This record gives sequence, structure tokens and C-alpha cells, in this order.
Amino acid sequence: MIRLDTCPACESAETRTVAGPSAEVWRRLLAFSERRYNGFLNVLAESMDLRVLTCDRCTHCWYAEIPDSEMLSGMYAAAVPFGNATQAAVESYGRATPSMVDRMARIRAIAARLAVPAEAGGGLALLDYGSGTGRWATAAVRAGFTATALEPHAHRVEQQDEDFEVVTDEGALLGRQFDVLHLEQVLEHVPEPQLLLRRLRPLCRATTLLVVRVPNLAKEAMRSNVWGDWPYDGVRPHIMAPFEHLHGFTPRSLQALIRAAGFRPLRATTVSPYFPRHVLHRFAGRLHPALGQTEVFGILGA
Ligand SMILES: [Zn+2]
Repeated sequence: MIRLDTCPACESAETRTVAGPSAEVWRRLLAFSERRYNGFLNVLAESMDLRVLTCDRCTHCWYAEIPDSEMLSGMYAAAVPFGNATQAAVESYGRATPSMVDRMARIRAIAARLAVPAEAGGGLALLDYGSGTGRWATAAVRAGFTATALEPHAHRVEQQDEDFEVVTDEGALLGRQFDVLHLEQVLEHVPEPQLLLRRLRPLCRATTLLVVRVPNLAKEAMRSNVWGDWPYDGVRPHIMAPFEHLHGFTPRSLQALIRAAGFRPLRATTVSPYFPRHVLHRFAGRLHPALGQTEVFGILGA
């Protein structure tokens, strides 16, 4: 079990509780545990401080106590598919869509602009961290990258026609460097995201592009009374359902995390030719966090 008393994004100690256990919360949690984890989750949760904290400085939200990776593996192993997924949807889950390949092509164009030709050698190398079924690694190969998929549960990775390398632990990457580090919907599941980003720094050159996307809690909070139906409304999992998402990012907290880990966002003029909407969201986010995006194109440096 990992206890996080200070903000895991910006390290501030100015924290307070936004959600915590009550009779009603336990009733919802039991229903969620039955539906999603065959009753495994509430057994896990009973021994833990179930409060969700927020940071007054950067607006990040997180669980005060987080199960360790062994407990999380047990939880994921007990999971049953959610919702009314049709067989076709389940089968297409591992496939890269044309829009994913298009996104990867744009990422590749930025990486090519940043790369020093002598270092890039024959091609641009991308690490997809937390690959899951490998569909982003597939999209990367289709867009022209040499891709490496890092996925601890290698049996989940589906190699289709495209060829990419699969590694199961970070140790196997020691001494290597990549042109792009890609973390798509990963950091919200990681117990200590700042530690992870710091561990990835040796895999970067000065020109390596870091691409991170996470769900936007600020957007969710604008739509509804976000803590009113936590942790489960009886239909779909909450954005901070225990312990699927351990962290609730906002545009501000993601920026704070990236900087605290030793990265900085790329200039808007570098990103805008390839992702014009990202840049618009970046400016709109200064007006209201729900209009911003929890997406970063970063590079090493304070
Ligand atoms: Zn903070």
C-alpha cells in the first residue's frame, strides 16, 4: 500500500478531502465491486483509507492510499468486462483505427522536426509505455515508426500484420534512447506518476518528444456534480472509480506533473502546424480548465 499525503503532481502539502466513505458510498462501492470485480474490490477497500484528496495549488485529485502493484494485479485479474460491449466491439478493441494512424503520423512529423538527423539514423523510434493490446504500437508502425511496446502483461498484446518489439519490464530498456515516448491513458493508472516520468528520463535525448494524454477530470466536473455519484452510479464507472483511476488530472495538474518530473511543454508554434486544436485548447484552458486538454507534447528541460 502506498500513502500519498502530499500532491503527487506538484508536491504541495495544501491538500483536502473531496470524497470519502459514508454508508451511501459503501452501498455504491459494494454494487460496483459485485458488478465489476466479483466482490474482490470491497475486500481490498475495507483495509484502506478510501478518501480522495485534492490539491489546492494545482487541482489534482488522487486516492490517499493506493494499493501496491500486486494488489492492483489481483484486482485487474478479477475484472469482468463492463457495459454492453458487443462481440464486434470487443474484437475491434485491439485494432488501430485510421484516426489513430493519422494521430501517429502527426506525432512523427513533430518528432522528425525535433530530431537531429545523425541520431535518428535509419528511422524514428517510439516507445509506447503501457501498450495494452498494442493498438497504438500498431498505429505507430503504420505511420512509419520503429515501435517498442512496453506491457507487463505481454499476453494482452496482439501482433497483427505489423511488427513491433514487445518488452515486459523497464529494465530491458536500460541504455536505450527513443525519439518519442508515448503514454496514452496510462498515468491515471500509475500509483506514482512523477516517479515513472523521472525513471523515463534516461530513455530521452534532448530532442525526444514526450506525448501524454489522460482523462480530464475538470471536464467531468463541469458536466455534473462529480462527487455526488462517486464511486458508482449503477450504470457506468465513475472517472475516479476505485482503483481503476488512481489519479484525476486537470490541465493544470498535468502541466505541474510534467514540469516537476523535469519536462516542459513544447512551444505552441512547434505543435500548432500538426495539432491546431491542441493549441486552441491550450489557450482556451487558461479561461476555464474544462475547455483545456489533459494532453501534453513535452521535451526534457526545466
Ligand atoms: Zn498539486
